[in-house]
Amino acid sequence: MIELPVTLVIPLLIILGAAFGSFLNVVIYRVPIKMSVVKPKSHCFNCKVPIRIIDNIPVLGYFLLSGKCRNCKFEFPSRYAFVELITSLLTIIIYIIYGISTSFFIYLALTYLLIAVTFVDIDHFIIPNGFIGIGLIILIMGIQLRWIPIDWIEAASGAFVFAGFLFTIGIIGQFILKKESIGFGDVKLGLVLGGFLGVEYSILALYLSFALSAIYVFVMLGAKLMQKSAKIPFGPYLAAGSLIALFTTSPSGGNYILNWYYLTMF
Ligand SMILES: [Zn+2]
Repeated sequence: MIELPVTLVIPLLIILGAAFGSFLNVVIYRVPIKMSVVKPKSHCFNCKVPIRIIDNIPVLGYFLLSGKCRNCKFEFPSRYAFVELITSLLTIIIYIIYGISTSFFIYLALTYLLIAVTFVDIDHFIIPNGFIGIGLIILIMGIQLRWIPIDWIEAASGAFVFAGFLFTIGIIGQFILKKESIGFGDVKLGLVLGGFLGVEYSILALYLSFALSAIYVFVMLGAKLMQKSAKIPFGPYLAAGSLIALFTTSPSGGNYILNWYYLTMF
């Protein structure tokens, strides 16, 4: 591995992260409506005029034009800049944890995939099978090349526990609520996430996912910003819970959250 100074790597990764975020915006918008992610080039939703390369610079382009189309002044959703920022931020976090290593590339790919999963699920309440397929390919590559610290047995057990738990909760929810609570897309995503996490971290990730979604629902209902019957996508919470479980793993073994838990509770 080539050793680059941190002062050079960080700005480089901020720019690369934002550029990937920009691509993820295209994926999030186009994949659910079955459009190609490469053609045609990005254009304004309103006047259809292609966006100039200079205006398409992630984050910066958005702020330079104060989020408006240069041609028709149509206002772009601020989420575009948000997705670019969060992609950039997560890229830096993964670098800080793993350095430029083989694990870095695998977890980065997983994270980018989960960003796409999150926003597609928010917009359409679906997790495209293509995303699940890509997730499995990244996982299998990571294990086969030994680029991530997990073996086949642990990955398979994690996948079984993660997806199995969601499947069971889904069945129970269906029975009690008489409507779909956890979709089959979430169960399939659970297979991928459990594979990356193994059994113990899968349980942690599930716990975090349910806790995060409960906090969200509690706050939104309290602030009267959501109706009791509102449907919420669960993919974003599974993604967030899994990434938190993954990124709190300490290099010396164990997990910061679990270590804290065992120390406090026992
Ligand atoms: Zn326009």
